[in-house]
Amino acid sequence: MAVPIEDRPTPTDRGEESLPVLDPATGEQLADVPVTDPAEVRAAVKLARAAQPTWLALGFRGRRAVFATSRRWLLDNRDRVIDTIVGETGKAREEAVVEFVYMVTALAYWARTAPAHLRTRRVRSLSPFVLGRTMYTRREPVGVVGVIGPWNNPLVNSFGDAIPALAAGNSVVLKPSEETPLTGLLMREMIRGCGYPTGVFQVIPGAGATGRALADEADFVMFTGSTATGRKVAARAAERLVPSSLELGGKDALLVLADAPLDRAVNVAVHGAFFNAGQTCTSIERVYVEAPLYEEFVTRVRELTEQLTVGRPDGFGTADIGAVTYPPQLDVINEHVQDAVDHGARVLTGGRPLDGPGRFYPPTVIVDVDHSMRCMREETFGPTLPIMKVGNVEEAVRLINDSEYGLQASIVTRDTRLARAIAARLRVGAVTVNDTQSNYLALGLPMGGWRQSGLGVRHGGEGIRKYTRIQSVMVNKHPLRRDVHMMPFRPSGYRFVLRLVDLLNGRLRSR
Ligand code: NDP
Repeated sequence: MAVPIEDRPTPTDRGEESLPVLDPATGEQLADVPVTDPAEVRAAVKLARAAQPTWLALGFRGRRAVFATSRRWLLDNRDRVIDTIVGETGKAREEAVVEFVYMVTALAYWARTAPAHLRTRRVRSLSPFVLGRTMYTRREPVGVVGVIGPWNNPLVNSFGDAIPALAAGNSVVLKPSEETPLTGLLMREMIRGCGYPTGVFQVIPGAGATGRALADEADFVMFTGSTATGRKVAARAAERLVPSSLELGGKDALLVLADAPLDRAVNVAVHGAFFNAGQTCTSIERVYVEAPLYEEFVTRVRELTEQLTVGRPDGFGTADIGAVTYPPQLDVINEHVQDAVDHGARVLTGGRPLDGPGRFYPPTVIVDVDHSMRCMREETFGPTLPIMKVGNVEEAVRLINDSEYGLQASIVTRDTRLARAIAARLRVGAVTVNDTQSNYLALGLPMGGWRQSGLGVRHGGEGIRKYTRIQSVMVNKHPLRRDVHMMPFRPSGYRFVLRLVDLLNGRLRSR
């Protein structure tokens, strides 16, 4: 029987001391990276905790200067960063560029906006018991944030989450995926060269046991990965009453309405499903098309898909679909396609893995699908695009919401007013209208899943405030000797309070 992906023993579970890193596009070994064992993780967190006050004391301006140096470092080392991502993920170079641009933008965004997101806020109250008090909330960093990242976007989904945590004054200890530690090690070089105080920002390569140790030590855990592992991480954090934020799996739907501009709809579907070879949490994994547009839409999607090139990315324009990064994922993709075919679906293009070297699955369009099939219910995380005909919007909304996941959905239509109304009925954390996935790049827009797709959000004010604790302060600048409500109770005092409540609420009554 196949072992579920999340239960496979990892190198650190097996007690191995190093991680062989392979290029998924060639099978060639790129490096052997030492594993961080649990004792070393504890030492790393201890060091991070000791260093955090110095980092906090730098203030927003000081941290902004370090981020500016980091940005310059990234720009100076652009090709090395992009080459490293391409090498260990096997993704198309263009997709690595998106990661690079995200990272440069994130450093600027969080440096610029952190003070406003975290500012001290005045609070007012109508309660007669607190009249005259000054009240405000202020924010403190949580301390050490542990970031556990996946392999699909080694820069975005790991370092992208570290930056707001650092901007808020926390230390960060980051564990990259065992499949893709090289980008993390390159970022270690960036950290050393950019003025981060020692220990404030650490990268600890390793696998499951390293991640578990980090989740057991950090003051906050930011996790991106599978729902099964996310649940374990949150449970462990909860045992210590430590908060966590989880960005997990998805089964994102695209709804194409009958009035949709066809070219746009086709491009949204193909890009949304096949970007990063479908290895994106916000990939379009199922499409519902209103009947009048269905045939034409399917024909055009097939034509465009057949134009995409698959293979080893050797430079710009050499491959649209890169490799399948994570070895077991190829089986999942294959099983989902096979299960659909076994239950009566038709594969229009693609449908079986390419011969090696390297791990490649061609972009695959499937029709005649329904919700009894795994490809419509479970996360595939690969380049598949199952398309289903629907009679009307009501049916589409019901089917989109018929999922344990709730990450994101897209709608293509000329009627954006209708799209907004549909969006409000979808049980998902984010909706794009006439767009796909680009909302992720708008750092001011919070992004996070509902239901089994996660807890909490990244990006926007909520995406940085989660890395802080709130403290409320009430100051009585002009205290009386005694307030009217204090003990021992005096009837006159409480009668006065009741009169005040009447007055404050616009009600006048005779005594
Ligand atoms: P996991 O959720 O297992 O791994 C994500 C990260 O958590 C990795 O760094 C992993 O380490 C680490 N980890 C594993 N076990 C633990 C643990 N018990 N405690 C703490 N950290 C742990 O995802 P996989 O990489 O195994 O991928 C499985 C599935 O997850 C995919 O098929 C896909 O469906 C989904 N996925 C979703 C992503 C998203 O963006 N939401 C991204 C990637 C995958 P290591 O890799 O070193 O074992």
